[in-house]
Amino acid sequence: MYEVCPRLWYLLMKILVLNCGSSSLKFKVFSDRDLYWLAGGMVERIGQPDSRLRLTWAGGENEWPGAAPDHRIALQRVFHLLTQHDIVADPTQLGVVGHRVVHGGDRFRTPLLIDAASLEELRQLTPLAPLHHPANLRGIELATALCQGVPQVAVFDTAFHHTLPPRAWRYALPAWTWHEYQVRRYGFHGTSVQYVSRRAAKWLDRPIEELNLIVLHLGNGASVTAVQGGRSIDTSMGMTPLEGVVMGTRCGDIDASVPFYLMRQTGLDVTAVERMLFFESGLHGLCGSGDMRTVRAHAAAGDADAQLALDVAGYRLKKYIGAYSAALGRVDAVIFTAGIGENDADMRQRACNGLELFGIHLDSARNGAEGTDERCVSRDDSPVQIWVIPTDEELEIARIALDFITTA
Ligand code: ADP
Repeated sequence: MYEVCPRLWYLLMKILVLNCGSSSLKFKVFSDRDLYWLAGGMVERIGQPDSRLRLTWAGGENEWPGAAPDHRIALQRVFHLLTQHDIVADPTQLGVVGHRVVHGGDRFRTPLLIDAASLEELRQLTPLAPLHHPANLRGIELATALCQGVPQVAVFDTAFHHTLPPRAWRYALPAWTWHEYQVRRYGFHGTSVQYVSRRAAKWLDRPIEELNLIVLHLGNGASVTAVQGGRSIDTSMGMTPLEGVVMGTRCGDIDASVPFYLMRQTGLDVTAVERMLFFESGLHGLCGSGDMRTVRAHAAAGDADAQLALDVAGYRLKKYIGAYSAALGRVDAVIFTAGIGENDADMRQRACNGLELFGIHLDSARNGAEGTDERCVSRDDSPVQIWVIPTDEELEIARIALDFITTA
């Protein structure tokens, strides 16, 4: 159907975006004429007895407990509800399904139309992202089976960073590690960075090609990216999403010899240490919780570990802003996004604190004001503007997937 239908066919269709994780499935549906949001939701704790499905649509919001023993049933239930609420007539009549795929390796720098051969190529990238890729691929397989004939497009978190220059992506390791094993900085959160950069250009009322931006995507996973003229020129995450700033449960930058020291001293094996670095470190490792709201509550109650965790996390952000100011030479705006970046005024303050030297002047009243909209939080006389821009990765994936199938 995809091959024979003209461009107009797509204009009548809806776009589904899927973000399939190991125990969760996030989804959003857009009309493809204007990418208008129609519905969205999430199945959480897939495989657990207390899993649940939440759906929000123009007509309301609802939650169903016990929704999904596995990913297949999760997606079937999502489709059932989308059709029941008249959001989608039939899954096979979607215009396109856009999939968030964490790692595209060096091979995939643009969106990828899924077929048997490309799916197999994607499978071969699993060693680069063993914690994320299997679930991403499962989502693609299931959607392909349930939406027969609908084009499936993989959109990669790494793709936006393919513009990094070699000086930023190459690790100072023996050349064979790159040539034979593709060890390099790839960078992640690219879809989010692309989205907020475009929004920032709109607010700054200048072409993105003229702008130098530093984007801080601070969610459970967190990264900082230097964007020059709409292109990523450096980013804090590396070959995997472990490197860089302090995250919920991931350590970010550490001395690369720490894992070896720990393995020798404790007898922990590779898997156990990898697990520790990804799931037991970061804020969680520093103070026992990886959720910023909990950390903040504990810090406010006088917990010294939680206070130190905030200090370590904020200081690391500030160092990255300083480093990327140097990399860019001139900065037009610093952008905060994702759960912490959008909501945590104190972390924004810590990240910008003392950077007046670089022309970065936060306005404490604007920064402290509650809000969920796109907003400027710098002083009027700040040479570098500071913005809070809520991210919408799914909208960006929908846009990319739609562009891709209508121009392919
Ligand atoms: P991800 O998409 O990477 O799972 P999110 O972008 O949803 O993560 O961000 C989750 C983080 O944002 C958590 O640490 C959470 O505590 C934090 N967060 C959400 N709301 C607030 C808030 N009001 N104040 C401080 N932190 C918040």
